[in-house]
Amino acid sequence: MDTDTIRQLNDQHVVNTYGTRKLALVRGEGAKLWDAEGHEYLDFFAGIAVCNLGHCHPTVTEAICEQARTLVHVSNLYYIEQQAKLAALLCEHSFADKWFFCNGGAEANEAALKIARRYWAQQGTPKPEIVVAEQSFHGRTMATVTATGQPKYHQGFEPLLPGFHYVSYNDIDALAEAITPQVGLVMLEPIQGEGGVRVPTPGYLPAVRQLCDEKDVLLAFDEVQTGLGRTGSLFAYQNEDVVPDIITLAKGLGNGVPIGAMGCSDKVAEGFAPGAHACTFGGNPLSAAAALATFETLITPGFIEDARETGCYFIEQLLNLSKEFECIYEVRGRGLMIGVEFDRGVTPLVECMLNAGIICGPAGPMVLRFLPPLIVDRAAVDCVVAALLASLEELGW
Ligand SMILES: *Cc1c(COP(=O)(O)O)cnc(C)c1O
Repeated sequence: MDTDTIRQLNDQHVVNTYGTRKLALVRGEGAKLWDAEGHEYLDFFAGIAVCNLGHCHPTVTEAICEQARTLVHVSNLYYIEQQAKLAALLCEHSFADKWFFCNGGAEANEAALKIARRYWAQQGTPKPEIVVAEQSFHGRTMATVTATGQPKYHQGFEPLLPGFHYVSYNDIDALAEAITPQVGLVMLEPIQGEGGVRVPTPGYLPAVRQLCDEKDVLLAFDEVQTGLGRTGSLFAYQNEDVVPDIITLAKGLGNGVPIGAMGCSDKVAEGFAPGAHACTFGGNPLSAAAALATFETLITPGFIEDARETGCYFIEQLLNLSKEFECIYEVRGRGLMIGVEFDRGVTPLVECMLNAGIICGPAGPMVLRFLPPLIVDRAAVDCVVAALLASLEELGW
């Protein structure tokens, strides 16, 4: 099918939550994508930080095919070998002692919110209120959209859930003030993604941890976007040595096969007794096999270190470029999670880059965002920076 035919079929039959799109991408390999007409693109968005190993990574593809031939799904009423192995591997490489599996980021955060409330209820000291940050993004279910500190995502969905408080991100005094005796959980992204690639000041996250300890409040890090090598270490909490009580993962976990996970300490895990929470598909043989192959590849020595170095190089090149363009307000990020804030809306720039064969995206109205597969090299970065320079000149910015 050509793009126009796909567009017509889609627009007639699919709920219009995503608007009109320019491309129908039909094939991928590494950091390359091809559309229905056979045009080639360099992918610097990775399906929103999902395909961290690149498209159709042979190890993951092989694992998916092998598992699809063996057993795609059984329910969690039975033990699932791939899920148990995945959990053990995640435990080995993180602070978490226990994992719960689901289908994506919002569900992982739902699990985090629910386990925190139930944990305190079980302790006999109910503290159902939750503090989150402004400009945050935690998902689109009713609880996670409530946790999302951006009014544009709330509009028309009121009444939201009760018990949520919003504080300015990167402001420790505001957080201290918000933690009343009714608060049992603080949930934050270690770097805000959808909110504009906002990196907190060094020291903020350690201060948050300290505050949560002092006030006996659980701390959850939403690492749905920052986790799994994206910020130059396996998990973003390791960048500042701040250990949360709860972590959520999704996006990069299955390299494109839908899977989410909530990890926590043994202590917090007590919050979910048998029957307290469940997920039909969560960690089924197929998704767990994909995640297992993905994670094993991700932790091969040098893989994440290379991505971190490429990220440093990319930021350097963008900083150099920013010196020549007053329209660039700030370059920020960590690893290969990078945002370039402009003094104007970036929609025409994203389009211009696409016309030049580069796929990137926005993070809010003014920030151009790059989330390439972690396998990209300096040559690919050079290509993107050259296209950005040409696009800015073409637009007369
Ligand atoms: C994408 C994202 C989510 C939501 O994940 P879904 O899989 O779309 O539900 C939650 N939190 C963060 C930080 C994200 O980037």
